Amino acid sequence: MIKIAENTIKRLIVYKKELNRLKAEGKKFIYSHVLAALSGSQPHLVRRDLMAVGYSGSPAHGYSVKELESSISDFLCSSRQVKVILIGIGNLGRAIIDYCHKQNPKIAISSAFDIDPNKINKEYHGVYCFHIDTARNYVIENEIKVAIITVPDSEAQTIATALSDAGIRGILNFTPGRLRVPENVYVENADMMLYLEKVIYFVQNV
Ligand code: NAD
Repeated sequence: MIKIAENTIKRLIVYKKELNRLKAEGKKFIYSHVLAALSGSQPHLVRRDLMAVGYSGSPAHGYSVKELESSISDFLCSSRQVKVILIGIGNLGRAIIDYCHKQNPKIAISSAFDIDPNKINKEYHGVYCFHIDTARNYVIENEIKVAIITVPDSEAQTIATALSDAGIRGILNFTPGRLRVPENVYVENADMMLYLEKVIYFVQNV
């Protein structure tokens, strides 16, 4: 398998988002320099990234928005639908469930897990919440590979270790701490404060 740079993946995700928006607006074709401008990228990078995807549309007449969006979408996620689980259905967990199911039909939060008896055996935005003790079997039986962690920081490492042992290969971690996981598990840390601090820095220094 050809290894694609992380920055290329980040740009492709942004292109896909822009193409989705253009598709909804009824736009049929787009030139690389326009897609670059909309995505904060460069025309030569757009063309190179699209070659990595294997998209063979003609840049001379502009790319087909629909075909390009579909090619990038298939490249980023080859499965028809990826099932993801969420651990910790508190304030953030519920907001993520609500956000996710509206964003990408290829990504489905199939179940949530919590430790609080008041939250277990209930449905949140169509996602059923089970006891955390059942998560291991659920992951194994349903061959789940991706998890979102939104529990208190003190619980995150134990959960990450248990999920990795059960077969999880990718974690989106919203807790402030850094997780120690085996090498074959990819962790992405998401922290809203990092973005806010960046914005504040630029507001004060630009
Ligand atoms: P919350 O208290 O509302 O929710 C936490 C949930 O985890 C609760 O439902 C609780 O019952 C559950 N839980 C606790 N221990 C558990 C366990 N062992 N197994 C399964 N579930 C368990 O908290 P919140 O405001 O939703 O925040 C959740 C996490 O996200 C915290 O770590 C917080 O620091 C972090 N957070 C991150 C960001 C960000 O931008 N990255 C933003 C807000 C909050």
